[in-house]
Amino acid sequence: MEIKTGHVVGVNGNLVDVEFDTTVVKNEVGYIIVGDTRLKGEVIRITDGKASLQVYELTGGIKVGDPVEFSGELLSVDLGPGLLTQVFDGLQNPLPELAEKCGFFLQRGVYLDPIPNLDWEFTPSMKVGDTVVAGDSFGSVPEGIFTHKIMVPFSLSGEWKITDIKEKGVYKSHDVICTIENRIGEKKELTMIISQPVKRAIGAYEERIRPHEPMVTKIRLVDTFLPVAKGGTYCIPGPFGAGKTVLQHLTSRNADVDIVIIAACGERAGEVVEILKEFPELTDPKTGRSLMERTIIICNTSSMPVAAREASVYTAVTMAEYYRNMGLDVLLLADSTSRWAQAMREMSGRLEEIPGDEAFPAYLESRIAEFYERAGMVRLKDGSFGSVTIGGTVSPAGGNFEEPVTQATLKVVGAFHGLSRERSDARKYPAIDPLDSWSKYDGIIDKKLVDETYSFVLKGNEVNQMMKVVGEEGTSLDDYIVYQKGELVDSVYMQQNSFDPVDASVSVERQRYTFDVLHDICMSEYNLKDKKDARLFFNEIRQLFLDWNGSLEDSPAFKENEEKLKKTVDGRRR
Ligand code: ADP
Ligand code: MG
Repeated sequence: MEIKTGHVVGVNGNLVDVEFDTTVVKNEVGYIIVGDTRLKGEVIRITDGKASLQVYELTGGIKVGDPVEFSGELLSVDLGPGLLTQVFDGLQNPLPELAEKCGFFLQRGVYLDPIPNLDWEFTPSMKVGDTVVAGDSFGSVPEGIFTHKIMVPFSLSGEWKITDIKEKGVYKSHDVICTIENRIGEKKELTMIISQPVKRAIGAYEERIRPHEPMVTKIRLVDTFLPVAKGGTYCIPGPFGAGKTVLQHLTSRNADVDIVIIAACGERAGEVVEILKEFPELTDPKTGRSLMERTIIICNTSSMPVAAREASVYTAVTMAEYYRNMGLDVLLLADSTSRWAQAMREMSGRLEEIPGDEAFPAYLESRIAEFYERAGMVRLKDGSFGSVTIGGTVSPAGGNFEEPVTQATLKVVGAFHGLSRERSDARKYPAIDPLDSWSKYDGIIDKKLVDETYSFVLKGNEVNQMMKVVGEEGTSLDDYIVYQKGELVDSVYMQQNSFDPVDASVSVERQRYTFDVLHDICMSEYNLKDKKDARLFFNEIRQLFLDWNGSLEDSPAFKENEEKLKKTVDGRRR
């Protein structure tokens, strides 16, 4: 293939203007050649003969006149067996290998093969003469605990006939295992690896289905009150230090999905190191094997400029879609989308675009919407289902949810888990504010019962606000009891101790079981003499409930604590 070239005519931070000789297209990858280093960039704008490249590396040393090579390809990722367990940067460089090659001070301009050329046991599912279209699976390999389907590249159009396919056996990822030909005699050689543009959603499924099944997180406040559906979207906005990252890590461990992809874009470097150290040591509660076997981590190193944050978000969602097309449930967690939005703002400023709200580009909303729209549950051509669920944190300055990124996200997501400074300061974890947050999805418990219980928290809060004005003396006993019931729901059910081995993750069955008891406590009336009596009574119940929460399901303590609690409640029932 003839190489398309150009040369640098201007440098403005990470934005490099290039005059090109032939043609280039938007989102095409170009390499700026500085000495013997090739720096990767992506065309983000083309105006009168000039292409503006956002460069994913530090741009020091780039001069006017430096040569540029255009690849003729859109910014893409490699998809295939061997992705799981890996840690990549936003451009899909495997980080451990990169560190090995370059030492801990990562060099720029080094791009490694994202998928190691390993041996895989391939089993064909089609034969010579069969017809295939984009996305069809023609065989599979076992990858960890999954059957990894080998598929026809998603970007191929039309029908193709298999003219050659390997028999069952061991092949390398980059070996040609299938050859196809279309009606006009065009031939393609397929390996286990697909190169897929990241900014276009992978289609090749039968239809999109409304998300309807809860994605269980084992966090009571989420599953019972603010559910997330498989194939749905949710966001976690919250001020610095309120617990967004911890919440996402808890979810990545416990969510009942097949695969978790973590996109850590531009949060503190120390956190990334923590994940890398911690994850391989954790076991998957579902399989008892290493959590990494079902995890992919994408994170940016501090040596990469902000533009790489954008790439990491798209790299992550493209991988998620790929596994969805194998009939798997994938959870993508992005932390934090604000960092990504800031990168957009920086680039937009350099492009001298007309700024919108708080200097974010006018297309901020549509970019955020397009990203979350790539979530969804789909029915595949073979009748099976797959899903991509997306959860993104937002870190607005000062925790003010009125800012553009939070607002744009709010418009498109199906659930909103807003963290509050007040709750995290009071160490009420998870610090999701039950008054502010909402979900449009169905959860694990009958909505009517949930609403009845929730209403005590809402009404209890009103009473509490009033009590701050009129004092406890000015509050009626009935109101005071509502307040106590609301506090009870909050403290024994909405809050959850992530350090307690039992309370940290609570199964659906257990949530249903304890919720029933809690609901009954709320809906019952009691013989209580006065407010002091009520306070003592609810304090006692609270402690008994917490003891119950802390006891293992199949231990004698579970039954004992449950009976103690019920006896105390029954003793006062009216
Ligand atoms: P953010 O990502 O919102 O800036 P983090 O998730 O890093 O905040 O949390 C900051 C700190 O708050 C943690 O280091 C931890 O000490 C505490 N924390 C957050 N969530 C919890 C939790 N569920 N249980 C106990 N401590 C928590
Ligand atoms: Mg964080």
